[in-house]
Amino acid sequence: MSRKVGIPGALLYYYYFPLWQAFFQALGAEVAVSGPSTKSVLNRGVELAVEDACLPVKLALGHVAELAGKVDYLFLPRLVSVASREYICPKFLGFPDMVRQTVPDLPPIIDVNVNLYRRQNKLYTAFRAAGKIFSAGEARIFLAYRRGLAALGKYWKLMGEGFSPEEAINLLNRSSPRCPQPSNAARTIPEDGPAAASDKAPRPEREKPVVAVIGHPYNIYDPYISMNLLKKLRQAGVRTATAEQLPETVVRREAAYLPKRLFWTLNQRMTGAAFYFLRSGRVQGLLQVTSFGCGPDSMTGELIARRAAGHGDMPFLNLVLDEHSGEAGVLTRLEAFLDMVRQKQEGGRPG
Ligand code: SF4
Repeated sequence: MSRKVGIPGALLYYYYFPLWQAFFQALGAEVAVSGPSTKSVLNRGVELAVEDACLPVKLALGHVAELAGKVDYLFLPRLVSVASREYICPKFLGFPDMVRQTVPDLPPIIDVNVNLYRRQNKLYTAFRAAGKIFSAGEARIFLAYRRGLAALGKYWKLMGEGFSPEEAINLLNRSSPRCPQPSNAARTIPEDGPAAASDKAPRPEREKPVVAVIGHPYNIYDPYISMNLLKKLRQAGVRTATAEQLPETVVRREAAYLPKRLFWTLNQRMTGAAFYFLRSGRVQGLLQVTSFGCGPDSMTGELIARRAAGHGDMPFLNLVLDEHSGEAGVLTRLEAFLDMVRQKQEGGRPG
């Protein structure tokens, strides 16, 4: 009987799940993902978490608690660095320990060390260690790893085309028919800026304003935590652009305009994307989503806000999420922001 590996649908699930899934499945394991985020999942995480944990970590603890007792292993890689000469937030490094200290009834945790700070090929070292649990065959583990990388490459290609992580994962797993069009805007951001607006007929897709949504993937793509932000924007007649739609080279080039290199990979991506969208003239507003209690966000959030302020009439909204965020308050702020976006689209100066 195949052994079941549990993967919480939180944190860097949004960046790496296809790699992890394809790897374990190629080794004959069954992969189980926790269900969608809900109020009870978050409440459970809040009960378990230490006081100063950020919202995404609290939510992730709730997802782990949901899987514990239902799987044979939990895959919680200890992420130290995912890019050369960079680190990611220390919360990822300590997450497996935090889980051990707080979540009851845990199965064995696969917490292989991922540290690419000095050498990219260290990634295989981590997967080799995880693979040994399921197979003694060196070649089989290596092939599983290659299959994982291939799945990851396809996943990022789909996100570059504008598919959301959920859509891209569904497409890779063939569990839903191919979406006729991605829900995000990358493929439809016009090269020469949006065309003039018309009051008379419903707007063609390419004439709708575009809002850049900048934030950690586990915040903006989780419908519960973000209060369905991306969907609300689309329902309001706005196209969305996110960092995940941009090539790595573009976000790194833009972030390099800062006098000092940012050494947090995720925040570098967010900052580079925000700078690109602001400079490109292809967006009519910038919406930044940050987590309450996030150290890296408090610094890069300020950098992005200052850069947006330097673009004079660019509508800008910073939404700070925490477990007490109320939907009514967010909606009110969003509506005021969208009024400014539409005004900018019509050619007037936002008030
Ligand atoms: S980067 Fe911020 S939001 Fe993400 S895990 Fe670290 S502290 Fe939490």
